[in-house]
Amino acid sequence: MAKILITSGPTRQYLDPVRYLTNASSGRMGAALADSALRAGHAVTIVTGPVSIEYPSEAKTLWVTTTQEMLDTVQQIFPSHNGLIGAAAPCDYMPRKILSEKISKDGRPLQLELIETPDVVATAAASRLGHQWVVGFALETDDRRFRSIVKMQKKCCDLMVSNGPTAIDSPHNEVEIIDSDGNTLAQVAGTKSQVADAILHWIQVQLISRYTGVKS
Ligand code: C5P
Repeated sequence: MAKILITSGPTRQYLDPVRYLTNASSGRMGAALADSALRAGHAVTIVTGPVSIEYPSEAKTLWVTTTQEMLDTVQQIFPSHNGLIGAAAPCDYMPRKILSEKISKDGRPLQLELIETPDVVATAAASRLGHQWVVGFALETDDRRFRSIVKMQKKCCDLMVSNGPTAIDSPHNEVEIIDSDGNTLAQVAGTKSQVADAILHWIQVQLISRYTGVKS
């Protein structure tokens, strides 16, 4: 049995008290991974941004809003887990200034200055303990395999799941699972539940068995 931490869903970056930046991530891939990991006998913690789907009740679910909050929560609890699956789509940008009052229309263009948010997976991977593993997701439209491998190296992940833009807010997904040497372990298309089972299978074979010597 492993303790698996899953990030899921989008994050929100507020511009003022009512407006925010976000994306269409539904949290379905994170929920499917949690369900699959629980069925395989693992303990699961989910750190999720705002979504309307339900997560399995057997998982411990922690709710956050911003990318920084997701990172803070992950950093706090990752040391007590064996591995991290980064299935979230955190907002990559936030406004330099959050206004405390609602921005009023004045007929003129509004200019926003955006700065990058921290990368949750890369930061967690950089500070991981020797026995811990990290799996990332990469959503690319072109050159998917190459860009996923570059992202895996940049974010220090042990496995990368490469998917396309049709994954967003869909019940289905079509992925390639790539190991740290750049080998494609599997290509899987199907429901997010079927895809999650395949990802969990490779996490078991490549990471959980190797790092903990346990075959569930
Ligand atoms: O957005 P990008 O394609 O770089 O995301 C790749 C991986 O990095 C995903 O696993 C995603 O969860 C993670 N990520 C993150 N924090 C961010 C951006 C992405 O953890 N700010």
